[in-house]
Amino acid sequence: MWKSAIVGLTLIPVALGAQSFTSLAPAIQPLVSVSDARVALTHVRVVDGTGKPPLEDQIVVIEDGKITAVMAAADAKVPPGARTIDLTGHTVIPGLVGMHNHTFYTTRGRSVQLQFSAPRLYLGSGITTTRTTGGTSPYHEINMKRGIDRGEVPGPRMHLTGPYLTGPGGAATMAQIGSPEEARRIVNYWADEGVTWFKAYTDISREALRAAIVAAHKRGLKFTGHLCSVSFREAVALGIDNIEHGLFTNSDYVPNRTPDHCSPDMRTSILKVSMDGPEVQQTIRDMVTNKVAMSSTLAVYELSYPDRPPLEERVLAALSPEAREEYLGARKDMSARAAESTMPELFRRAQAFERAFVKAGGLLGSGVDPTGVGGALPGFGDQRNYELLIEAGFAPVEAIQIMSLNGARILGVDKELGSVTAGKRADLVVIRGNPIAQPAEIRQVTIVFKDGVGYDSAKLIASVNGLVGIR
Ligand SMILES: [Zn+2]
Repeated sequence: MWKSAIVGLTLIPVALGAQSFTSLAPAIQPLVSVSDARVALTHVRVVDGTGKPPLEDQIVVIEDGKITAVMAAADAKVPPGARTIDLTGHTVIPGLVGMHNHTFYTTRGRSVQLQFSAPRLYLGSGITTTRTTGGTSPYHEINMKRGIDRGEVPGPRMHLTGPYLTGPGGAATMAQIGSPEEARRIVNYWADEGVTWFKAYTDISREALRAAIVAAHKRGLKFTGHLCSVSFREAVALGIDNIEHGLFTNSDYVPNRTPDHCSPDMRTSILKVSMDGPEVQQTIRDMVTNKVAMSSTLAVYELSYPDRPPLEERVLAALSPEAREEYLGARKDMSARAAESTMPELFRRAQAFERAFVKAGGLLGSGVDPTGVGGALPGFGDQRNYELLIEAGFAPVEAIQIMSLNGARILGVDKELGSVTAGKRADLVVIRGNPIAQPAEIRQVTIVFKDGVGYDSAKLIASVNGLVGIR
């Protein structure tokens, strides 16, 4: 599957060992509040990430980075020498898997690589695994991942995506691909550099996309897209593995579409199509039949919805003064034009599309996408997604599943992580309160376990105050 002439003989399957507390750099260790190799979390509510109802009064046992038992408190034997943490009144959910989790950030005025603050915000918010889903500075992300894997940077386990692949005339940070030869060359270069995903962008041609997908698949790598010039159904036919953003980027319904061209009429066409009609059903059927997953990124689109989301003090505190001004300015402008906005209707349709996709058997993951006008921050916006998925009509346990196990399935790591299951890596989020009954409490993260090492969420988040928008 993994074809690499040079390292093929010595490559051991990439099941990295658990990252223990003692392997962390001295500068990182003070961010950890639970460093014991054996831990028993007692009297805790468990939402295991599989979509099953919550289990009350459980014990979760962690040994050497793995979950070794999840059981009712009454049956439990705590292993000798384990540190016991009484979590009465708390909930444990799986470490979240962020499927659209860039390490750069934008407002109307800036695009900044958050080399310092993004990994801390993700981990502190309970995101223990991410896919970068398009890099504007891929070497920053390659080196960030290495730093995290070596225990020098506090952050999530990262699945790297190469630079965005678009067509000639596309955005300046992207590979602008004019021919299939170019597509193959670029894919192979970044595959050699260690990325495991690629992402097409809005101006790619079908010919270039086909060549890029074939080249990625030859290397055992996967392909996703933020589409426009190529419609969902066309991309499915070309063999894409995953589609980003859901309905917002679907050009299947543009009348008299010019192929390979990103039409300005896409949004209008989505507002006009019948959500129960055959066209929408056909898109969903094509995706489900061909096992093409979808990533929900409601939190970033909500930024274009006038007077939403509710302003959060912690968001304003994390932003640098200039970025805060830019975000609040954009909000104000959108609010002033609220009467003309089509976003409320578009947003409802996108939510309905995600529900229909899952109902039809589709695999939906989610991620923040910390871009747009700058109000969906790494990690914080992932937590907002939880509320928006519930608003879309998913049960809270389904929303947790979308944000954890489903992401692990899309990444192909679900045997190893993604649910609170004995034998899996001890990637767990401890939450004060009950986010199943009170969704807003998803924000009340106290400890984030990654490989059984318990990070202090408050310390991680406090360490980036005022820095989002700068570094
Ligand atoms: Zn993106």
